Parts: sequence; C-alpha cells; structure tokens
Amino acid sequence: MLIFDAHLDLAWNALEWNRDLLQPVAAIREFEQQFSGAVPGDATTSVPALRDGNIGLVIATLLPRFKRPESPRTFYQSREAAFAAMQGQLAWYRSMVELGHFAELTDLPALEQHVATLQDSGLNNDTPIGFILSMEGSWAIPDPSYVERWYNMGLRILGPCHYGPDDYGHGTGSEGGLKEKGPELLREMDRVGMLLDVTHLSDDCFWQSLDIYTGPVLASHHNCRSLVPGDRQLADEQIKKLLERDAVIGLAFDSWMIRPGWIKGKTNPATVCLADAVNHIDHICQLAGNTKHCGIGSDLDGGFGREQSPCDLETIADLQKIGQLLSERNYSDADITGIMHGNWIDFFRRAWS
Ligand SMILES: [Zn+2]
Repeated sequence: MLIFDAHLDLAWNALEWNRDLLQPVAAIREFEQQFSGAVPGDATTSVPALRDGNIGLVIATLLPRFKRPESPRTFYQSREAAFAAMQGQLAWYRSMVELGHFAELTDLPALEQHVATLQDSGLNNDTPIGFILSMEGSWAIPDPSYVERWYNMGLRILGPCHYGPDDYGHGTGSEGGLKEKGPELLREMDRVGMLLDVTHLSDDCFWQSLDIYTGPVLASHHNCRSLVPGDRQLADEQIKKLLERDAVIGLAFDSWMIRPGWIKGKTNPATVCLADAVNHIDHICQLAGNTKHCGIGSDLDGGFGREQSPCDLETIADLQKIGQLLSERNYSDADITGIMHGNWIDFFRRAWS
C-alpha cells in the first residue's frame, strides 16, 4: 500500500543532526552510539526505510527553530540566520533531487505525473520519493513580503507558528492570538497561494487565522484533544471547523500525543502502540461521518526516536501496519486507501486545481 506522510523534518535531520539519510536506520543508530544523549533518540527514518515502507509521497519541511533562552545552540537567534539556514535545508532537498532520490512536486501536473509513476511501477529503487515543501514556523520569514519570495523558491505550505510565541502570533505552549503582522502574513499567503498548515497554532491563532485566510487548510501532524488533553491537540470544535473547510488532518506518532499522561523519558514505551494511534483516526472519522479527512503526518523524525514512538514501530516502514489495524476495525479497502494516501492526494488536487 502506497503511503503519503504529511510531516517529516528530513532536511533538519540531515543538516542539524548531521544524519546521512541515505543510510539504513540501523547504520545511523550505530554511528550515533558515540553521541548518546546528544541526538534526538533512536532514528526511525531514512530514505531506505521510506522505500521499505512504500512511502512515496511526503510533505517535507524546512524547520527554522525559534530562539529559546534555554536551548540556544541550534535555535536561531536572528531571522537572518534562520533564513540563511533554511537556504541550506532547501539546498539539501535539491541535491537529493539531483541524485534521483527525491522529486519536488510544486504543482498539479507534477503531482499527477508522480502518482502515475508510483501506480505504474511502485516505489522501487529507481523511483524518486515525491515531496511537497513546507515550512514549520515562520522564523525564516523576516517580513510578509518573504512569503512570495519563498513561494518562488518552491515553498507551498506554511505553518505560521511552532512552539511558543513568534513575531506573527502564538504557537504550541503559549497563549494569545495573532500579533500585529500576523493578519498581513495570512493575507499574503492567500494572495500567492501558500497553503495554511494550522498545526502548532495556539487556539486563538487557529480561530483568527481561519477568519482571515480563505484558501485551502491542512493540519499536517495533529491528534485529538478529546483523547489527549493539551493545546498541542485539536479540540472537537476545531476538528469540525477543519471539516467545514474540507481539510485533511494527519495522524502524528509521537507517543505523548497518542496517549494521555505520557511523560517523556519516564513512561514505559511499551504502553503505547499503533492501535492507540488509530483511535485518533477513528475519532475524526466519527466526527466527520466519513473517512475523507484523515491521513498520516507521522513526524517520526521530529526530535524523537523509537523510544518515544509506538511500541510496534521499529522504523517508519512499520506505518504499513496501520492499514491492517484499520481493516481489523472494519474500515473498507477504499477507506484504508484514502487514509494511507488518497485523502492527501485528493487534498492537493483540490488545492492546486
Ligand atoms: Zn511539529
């Protein structure tokens, strides 16, 4: 089964954690044993693992992390540094394209051609993995005019906030709405066709953004607050709003977002498994009354590893097990195909038509 994963921080792993993503996951783990404690967990994601899992389409991020007083080392202290570093992450994706590992998908013809290739020949070693470029947080957007500049460089999706407050608004873990330049940023996104990713927006920013921004909306890696309390998850009212906007919501696999009460580094990893993650898909499908608005947005390389992933996930290739788990809950083959890849593909068909 082809998988579309709507959230991976591949270039961030390649550049900030110096991971050679062309290596198998086992080789990356072995290399990193010498740095124990200084890497974001046991790697689960690399290009060979994506191929093993038939993950032929991804949303891949540029991740410019915002300055945080307690972690200054890889958190940019100026927007100019973040902008420059994102040029580096972009250059990494482009070099992967040149080597034939990835294909950059920036419009509908490119997407359709890539989907046709995957359907004809599958994701064999000669098929590139298709990616759509996204940015998580707007720390590399010094002012709203940069939205068009980034669009012209291939960026198609922007999540305006990440963790904490930013110059444009508030992200996860902070309270408050859009700041002075937030509305201008959103109107500029609308104007140039930059898609809005609501993941990580504070509740106030979520509602304010959807009042201002009129274009297609997604929630790339986002679970359900009614199952796991906390502002990192979507409340039912937010999910209903996203359904109204014909959005797709990607299921995230970070264990603390799957089961309530999970404490990083303390909770036994064996207590959260892929079946628990599927509960979040189920919840959204029940609210929607259909299966068209769920997808996968794993975030499996987003600063954690196997130790903070579902117990039955060794590498990202194990996302294949989601299909079987849905089948055991009597989801039809068509529903499962939609959740594994079809709903995301249809989202981009609507957004880019
Ligand atoms: Zn994230």
